[in-house]
Amino acid sequence: MIMSNLDDFIPGPKIKYQACSCALSPSRLPDLNYALNPYIGCSHNCAYCYAPDILKIDRNVWNDVKVKSGISKMLSKELKTKRGIIGLGTVTDPYQPIESVVCNTKQCLLEISKEDLPVSLLTKSDLALRDLKIYSDLTRVEIGFSIATDDEHSKFFEKNVPLPSKRLAAAKEFADVGLDVYVLIGPVINGITDKSDNLISDIVDSGIKRVMIDKLNLRTGLSETLERILPGSSVNSDKASNLIKFRCKSAGIKVEDVF
Ligand code: SF4
Repeated sequence: MIMSNLDDFIPGPKIKYQACSCALSPSRLPDLNYALNPYIGCSHNCAYCYAPDILKIDRNVWNDVKVKSGISKMLSKELKTKRGIIGLGTVTDPYQPIESVVCNTKQCLLEISKEDLPVSLLTKSDLALRDLKIYSDLTRVEIGFSIATDDEHSKFFEKNVPLPSKRLAAAKEFADVGLDVYVLIGPVINGITDKSDNLISDIVDSGIKRVMIDKLNLRTGLSETLERILPGSSVNSDKASNLIKFRCKSAGIKVEDVF
């Protein structure tokens, strides 16, 4: 189901705006030239999110999303001189619930499509399907859906996010129209991600042939948060990551580390 009513999906206060002063920022991530983040904050509010630490935003207000007003106009101007691969959603989810009403991400995509520049999307939401046609019309596009747990455990770590099974179903729809789709398994939560018995077989069934693995990144205070949710979940996840990699390879899925 695609989200359609703001009141149904946005927890917390009214929409807040912040004027956009720069749409495309240089990316430090490999394979990306620019980062495009249409929102500040993220109402998905995943317990393991370390984006607030990267942006130096108080974790307590991360859920209090601000819309970058004027971002698509700013993007249109910047695209006259900035060319390269654009990472969409590097420190926010561009398809978090507010997007269903505000459409910042869609407006930016339409600007990018005028120039037919390469895009790499990362999201946790099936709302991305709304823009499938725009993505399909781009010459170079990569679509990533991140999944850390099975449906049962998702509610503990990702209360406001569409269920992993929905994300995988959406990923399949993108793959079915021939787009380059990958699943980011991450963060790998020790004793949860590696115990999600059907995860790899579900990925195989969806026809997705590429997986990236993201280890747990424990920034300030995250260990305590995760331990409160599930004791043992903040333990170093190297062993769990290696097990998942082995399963992927055994299933014929190409697998690589995120960084
Ligand atoms: S979807 Fe991504 S940016 Fe949003 S809260 Fe979750 S981890 Fe953070």
